[in-house]
Amino acid sequence: MQPLIDHARTFGRRPEEFAGLAEGQSPQALFITCSDSRVVPALITGARPGELFELRTAGNIVPDPAGGPCGEAATIEYAVEVLGVQDIVVCGHSHCGAVGALVRGDDLTAVPHVRDWLSHAAAAPAGPDPGDPTVSAAVQRHVVTQLERLRAYPCVQRRLADGRVRLHGWYYEVHTGRVRAHRSGTDAFEAL
Ligand code: ZN
Repeated sequence: MQPLIDHARTFGRRPEEFAGLAEGQSPQALFITCSDSRVVPALITGARPGELFELRTAGNIVPDPAGGPCGEAATIEYAVEVLGVQDIVVCGHSHCGAVGALVRGDDLTAVPHVRDWLSHAAAAPAGPDPGDPTVSAAVQRHVVTQLERLRAYPCVQRRLADGRVRLHGWYYEVHTGRVRAHRSGTDAFEAL
């Protein structure tokens, strides 16, 4: 932790670089991804402060909009209705612990909040995943499911209907840094 503290201590030494951010934010995209520390949206995209509005959840899960009040739905609605983001990315990643637990049906008794979150918010991705440690196929199916969930949000639905928002499904390999994008209308993820 100490290196992180040391960096934070010196971070604000060039306040002129950030002064413009006081005027507000107009992010290019809502970026929904897993909390996994190996996934760093600003590194992957090169985004500067103010350019990405992030929602990070265990397993980059988009909850059912009809599932009652939750912080994730509030974040999505704020990004779409208030900030007017024109692009939403759902980015899953290789070696995802949450998706792996869903696929394997892990016993999560020792982590009841994780168990409840996964059982409440996500279904195990359909189809086989024969022991692949990257769980790549399952993660990609899972990303497509989260995109479908997003389409069920009324604010997203309205903007999709008149072309004011675009949805993107990404798959990020933590061990190579490569990104693949879902090709709409298919199961395929292809190089960006
Ligand atoms: Zn993950």
